[in-house]
Amino acid sequence: MFEQTGAIILSVGTELTEGIILNTHFRFLGAELKSLGARTSRCVQIPDSPVIYREELTRAVKDCGLVLITGGLGPTSDDLTRETAARVAGVKLEYQASVWEGLKKRYPGRRISPINKRQAFIPEGFRLIENPYGSAPGFAGRINGTLVVALPGPPKELEPVFKEQVVPLLARELNARIDDELKATVMMVPESLLEEGLRKHRLGKVVWGTRIAEDRILVNLRGGTAEERRKAFQGLELEFTPVLVRKDDVRPSLLLLQALESRDLHLAVAESCTGGLLGKLITDIPGSSKVFWGGLVVYSNEAKEELLGLDPDCISRHGAVSGEVASAMAEGVLKKTGCKAVALAVTGVAGPEGGSPEKPVGTVWISALASPAESMCREFNFYGTRNLIRQRTAVAAFLMAESLVLKRSFPLGSKKLDRSGN
Ligand code: ATP
Ligand code: MG
Repeated sequence: MFEQTGAIILSVGTELTEGIILNTHFRFLGAELKSLGARTSRCVQIPDSPVIYREELTRAVKDCGLVLITGGLGPTSDDLTRETAARVAGVKLEYQASVWEGLKKRYPGRRISPINKRQAFIPEGFRLIENPYGSAPGFAGRINGTLVVALPGPPKELEPVFKEQVVPLLARELNARIDDELKATVMMVPESLLEEGLRKHRLGKVVWGTRIAEDRILVNLRGGTAEERRKAFQGLELEFTPVLVRKDDVRPSLLLLQALESRDLHLAVAESCTGGLLGKLITDIPGSSKVFWGGLVVYSNEAKEELLGLDPDCISRHGAVSGEVASAMAEGVLKKTGCKAVALAVTGVAGPEGGSPEKPVGTVWISALASPAESMCREFNFYGTRNLIRQRTAVAAFLMAESLVLKRSFPLGSKKLDRSGN
């Protein structure tokens, strides 16, 4: 079982070791394994050398319960995966007529080189991993108890093949069926706190895997009973609030769009420090035109005054990064829409320069406004690079606006200038 030993990822290709291409498989497979709750103990990169390949595969099989091989499955003589796996397993190669037939069907009317026939051979006793995205299929089988899975090299083939065929296989190995898992999304919670929360609320045999995305952390709760997984999830909700912890894989931008759609509202944005990121993330979602009115990027004070009608006094009195200015920006853009809308405005110091002792880098004010009586305006203090601060601002803004639309309280923010009393 690779739960104890972890997994080894073995990438083959002289192109990799000579630095001609960057190995993206480590990143992809490492993250996938983590989200399955499996640990990667080593990533190995080797050239197309039969001797080195044999040595490394022999060592990997000895050390670990799971070895994922990438590349070397093509038809040419420098594609060594089939032969090496068969040799280390001590078995012959076996012809799989279905692969050859599949190849002929895939390229009808085209002459397929007899060299391609090599691809129809896999080590005896192994099973095929079909590859509808390319010509070389993968294979999986055991060598001395270790599960060895060989996958095609091109990322456009490897990634879907892994997700569609290898994930179910590994989940089975880990004694968890895919439908025996509870997927959750956690937003705006630092990884270390999430880890603590997961430890605190782990129940029975429930295990977890996490995957970090730009705007959220995906959590897979697996194992145990359905009731235990549900309780573990509730524990997380309790720890971090139901605003920040959701069932399934959800994105903050989509949550806001769904909330707006359910209330028949449009969205208008006025962005300073995010420079258009809110609009970008919203319009990344197909069909967002149904709710997205549009927005303005008002970076300078002049733009805030000219385009949104901000009072220059308000800016000079409170500073551009203030609750008053964020609120006035939201009011300004809401007036422009002329429809039933929610306005979202952000102003902050994204850094690395521009901070001050009172308003250090990472100080951000966000205002969400539906009507004069219904608004939330909060200050946040983010850490990190310019990019991270902007990303986090966007997530906070979407979740805050969603809470306003759904008339729920919003748990975050270090200072408040709300008018809806949530
Ligand atoms: P093919 O049938 O295309 O030969 P293959 O399974 O034999 O597939 P390789 O020959 O090892 O795979 O690699 C094919 C191409 O896939 C490489 O030229 C490279 O562009 C890409 N590739 C292979 N391995 C990696 C990797 N680890 N990271 C990123 N790209 C890779
Ligand atoms: Mg190849």
